[in-house]
Amino acid sequence: MWNSLRLRLLMAVILVVLVAVSVTAVVAGRRTTGEFQRYVERGGPIPFARYAVFLARSYDMRQGWGAVQSEVERIGQISGMRVVVADAEGRIVADSENALIGKSAAGRWRVPAIEITAGGRPVGFLYMIPPTEPREAERAFLRAVNRSILFGALFAGAVAVLVILGMSDRILRPIERLTAAAQRMEKGDLSVRVPVDSQDEIGKLAHAFNAMASSLAMQEQLRRNLVSDVAHELRTPLTNLRGYLEAVRDGLIQPDAGLIDNLYEETMLLNRLVSDLHELAQAEAGQLNLVRRPVKVDEIVQRVVEAFGWQVESKGLTLRVDVPADLPLVDVDPERIGQVLRNLLSNAIMHTPAGGEIDIAARAEGKWVTVAVKDTGEGIPPEHLPFVFDRFYRVDKSRSRLTGGVGLGLAIAKQLVEAHGGEIWAQSTVGQGSIFRFTLPVAAS
Ligand code: ADP
Repeated sequence: MWNSLRLRLLMAVILVVLVAVSVTAVVAGRRTTGEFQRYVERGGPIPFARYAVFLARSYDMRQGWGAVQSEVERIGQISGMRVVVADAEGRIVADSENALIGKSAAGRWRVPAIEITAGGRPVGFLYMIPPTEPREAERAFLRAVNRSILFGALFAGAVAVLVILGMSDRILRPIERLTAAAQRMEKGDLSVRVPVDSQDEIGKLAHAFNAMASSLAMQEQLRRNLVSDVAHELRTPLTNLRGYLEAVRDGLIQPDAGLIDNLYEETMLLNRLVSDLHELAQAEAGQLNLVRRPVKVDEIVQRVVEAFGWQVESKGLTLRVDVPADLPLVDVDPERIGQVLRNLLSNAIMHTPAGGEIDIAARAEGKWVTVAVKDTGEGIPPEHLPFVFDRFYRVDKSRSRLTGGVGLGLAIAKQLVEAHGGEIWAQSTVGQGSIFRFTLPVAAS
């Protein structure tokens, strides 16, 4: 419960409350003292004017300031202030502190002089001077103010702590759920997902976590599929080899030339499978070392076509090439694109019956050159077409095995084309033939 994030949040809030309260106490204390002082100076609870009226009456009765000292002292006791009376000329005639009698009052105090009028003319001035030390009443008032601030602060602090405890629970619960989910994932359970119940940063984190978990689960599934596909593809040729070799060892068959050919074919099959897998794995991991340079498309096509010449002829096929010599150069690794073309061409030859036609054409379209390999072969049923670029996907599994294909040729072609930034796709009509097209980037001139 008291993990560190919660504790830190709490400490931060308490600190903020403490600072706020201290600043309030200091500012309020200062202001209160100042206001109190002004209040007292302005006249206090009893208007000073009344004292002036009282003193005027006394002046009237005695016809002068003769006995004013005792009255001034009384007013001093009642008001708690120093009381000074000066005559019309500003000379002090009475002082509750009995100190300045006979001196001039002019400019001595900050407090305003209250005029004393008798018989319609000014006869003197009254000064009410507050004591410099705060009085007991004032100190009590300040104490009360400070106590209120303290109570307020304690109350605010308690509320803040409760609020932060509630809030930290709301914030930390999803984080704790995420941590628990990550720990389960670490132990190998890739099916964990966390509920996304908000749109804030934590909600987004939960969303990203779920996306990551799905992606990991998918990768894991792909990896398992690949391993089982590879095991499956390796098993058949190995079983054949073993069967033949055991039969020879046990003297059941003679190792004649035909048998040796058979065994040789099986090892070739294994060899091709292993090298195809290697190439595919490299391409999928983005580790292909592409040696790109500006190159002419017809050069690549020509080289591949020459290599397949005898196959085309021996199968009684017609191969036409329509690649204009003035096509723009493409920015590719000619070896890799040659490989793409070889895979497409060998498929076309394999799936086109004698007397059929194969066309290789290339056209420039904007920043791309599209190469098409078209055959008049058996075609691909529409339900299979979307999957022919998947690895180990074969339309007719038994037949393809006999011809040596394991369903990697198109997967490799796709990876190679995409490694160059291009695209590859297929169209096909059963009984009429197929067209495979791919795009290559035009080299910057
Ligand atoms: P393979 O190495 O077995 O030929 P590919 O990945 O090259 O595998 O092709 C996948 C499947 O697509 C093949 O098994 C085949 O059935 C089908 N296919 C590919 N090219 C053609 C084509 N030109 N005509 C008909 N079917 C084709």
